[in-house]
Amino acid sequence: MILVMKEHTDKAQIENLITWLKTQGVETHLSEGKFQTILGLVGDTSKVDADLLEGLDIVESVKRIQEPFKNANRKFHPDDTVIDIGGNKIGGGNFQVIAGPCSVESEEQICTIAMEVKKAGATMLRGGAFKPRTSPYAFQGLRDEGLKLLLKAKEYSGLPIVTEIMDASHLPLFEDVDVIQVGARNMQNFELLKELGHIRKPILLKRGLANTIQELLMSAEYIMAGGNEQVILCERGIRTFETYTRNTLDISAVPIIKELSHLPIIIDPSHSTGMARMVRPMSLAAAAAGADGLIIEVHNDPQHALCDGPQSITPAAFADLMQDLNSILDVVKKK
Ligand code: PEP
Ligand code: MN
Repeated sequence: MILVMKEHTDKAQIENLITWLKTQGVETHLSEGKFQTILGLVGDTSKVDADLLEGLDIVESVKRIQEPFKNANRKFHPDDTVIDIGGNKIGGGNFQVIAGPCSVESEEQICTIAMEVKKAGATMLRGGAFKPRTSPYAFQGLRDEGLKLLLKAKEYSGLPIVTEIMDASHLPLFEDVDVIQVGARNMQNFELLKELGHIRKPILLKRGLANTIQELLMSAEYIMAGGNEQVILCERGIRTFETYTRNTLDISAVPIIKELSHLPIIIDPSHSTGMARMVRPMSLAAAAAGADGLIIEVHNDPQHALCDGPQSITPAAFADLMQDLNSILDVVKKK
């Protein structure tokens, strides 16, 4: 981090700042030029509050050289993180496909879809029990009952399960869930993230609707700072001025995150487009861009789905997609 000091700043004030920065665990390097005095901060500056420094009377401007995230940063962890979910590895060249309905609706529905997606090659089952809906009058999910049905489908199909948590107080219900999803709307629910940092279970962290890549990585940092290093990132589309699709899929987030972080990154082609017919091309694009996996909404009767029917593909379309996906994965050399 570099601080440009204001002109004519008193030397004693700079010395005071240097002393205070030392107490924060960072070393400094002072460079006094003819016109400008620059203070370089050396060491781990992830805990230094750049806004606070910028607000000081003697500071003209602050420039971060290093990213404010540490645990999620590839610079401190050059190798890809590989997460094992019931024998399915994700990251480090391993690709996984999570598929299933937006919401768990009935035992028959979730068990049927589980078997269909498994047959087509999915390695994990998704299904929402607690649903974050824009309208309080829309279907809110089957809640505890939905989780029980999902666990039945896990037992029936043998597939590990992925489902969303909306409140930390529900954690005891998630004991047998394999991957806990933090949805887009909760990406910056920092108290929830802190709680998830204390458990030892993989977390699927979705990017918020209006959040930057750095904010997504800072949210991952919240979980990792608590000691839970099993974080899978998910790009699920962001809000832009484009209205044709439900959201805009930021495919460039994949190679960017690969550069910045060692964490696995997957794509959600369903929520990012909102259209079933866009799921196939976007899934193939995600694989080609180097993603570590996909999370796809699949429903056996999309027209009557209680949630997100228009973006859900049928098991037949999913099976078709899986074949083409494997051809792309062969080219990008993912397993
Ligand atoms: C979901 O996965 O069903 C969901 C609600 O996703 P998101 O948080 O990305 O909207
Ligand atoms: Mn959904």
